[in-house]
Amino acid sequence: MARLELNNLHAEVAEGDEKILEGVTLEVKSGEIHALMGPNGSGKSTTAKVIAGHPAYEVTEGEVLLHLEEGEFGEGIEIDEDHRTWNLLDLEPNERAALGIFLGFQYPAEIDGVTMTNFLRTALNAKIEEREELFEDDDGDEDADEEADEGFETSPMEGPADEGEVGVAEFQQILQEKMEALDMDEMFAQRYLNAGFSGGEKKQNEVLQAAILEPSIAVLDEIDSGLDIDRLQDVSDGINALRDQEGTGILQITHYQRILDYVEPDHVHVMLDGQIAKSGDASLAAKLEDKGYDWVRDEVYGTA
Ligand code: ADP
Ligand code: MG
Ligand code: MG
Repeated sequence: MARLELNNLHAEVAEGDEKILEGVTLEVKSGEIHALMGPNGSGKSTTAKVIAGHPAYEVTEGEVLLHLEEGEFGEGIEIDEDHRTWNLLDLEPNERAALGIFLGFQYPAEIDGVTMTNFLRTALNAKIEEREELFEDDDGDEDADEEADEGFETSPMEGPADEGEVGVAEFQQILQEKMEALDMDEMFAQRYLNAGFSGGEKKQNEVLQAAILEPSIAVLDEIDSGLDIDRLQDVSDGINALRDQEGTGILQITHYQRILDYVEPDHVHVMLDGQIAKSGDASLAAKLEDKGYDWVRDEVYGTA
């Protein structure tokens, strides 16, 4: 079990003093699906980026905590008292990711000759290595680590895999499984990073990346935008599978109700002016679809 906790989070633009988030409080647990909805400009994406540690924003108040329970990362990693609660605002973005927070596909600039397969395997291994470092007891025994690496699995293409790393052959198998589950074309994996992916393919890629990293909590920002109905169905199946098979908690940011017909939320939150103005169950999303956001504003500010 993992639990992401946002407490009275205030954030502004790093260069300047424009306030964007003005006290966001929200909790997402493993296995739960939360929809974060709201009009354009209300602060949804900023919330996602602050959780990710985006440098464009400065947190001025509040906290972002991640609580972990024993067993979250399987047998190999012991979650003792010292490693149970993490203050994410003190950590680098890649450290947050290593702790199981997934923040969507940060598309790197186009890199020549890097296939999706290589990119995804590198991302998975970087996460494994970073996590080992975060949980490592400071025994300073680097020599022993290095000795353990020697003679480990070797591939002529990739050089030796480090201890704990996922090798090429093993990764192929993982990738194939995940792509089948997502109904993705095999050729996809051989394509070059970022080269001519359509909007829909990028979104599907994002879900594939999440499926491979098996996050504790995934924040998906407008993953439904610009998808045709078939692709929306595939992407939704992927999100549901993440929850059902990996127990991932999902924070699904969306402006529209449409995807919530396929990914049914346990909780729905409406963001207005940098705060969560109202929360409810799935019926709240249906009401928003019907009546828009103005009635929430009227209710909150009493301007009706
Ligand atoms: P949403 O995702 O709900 O549409 P955003 O979080 O993207 O909203 O933006 C919330 C508000 O903050 C908007 O008014 C937006 O213009 C402003 N904003 C967000 N990021 C920046 C930035 N880097 N610099 C200046 N203003 C920003
Ligand atoms: Mg947005
Ligand atoms: Mg060591």
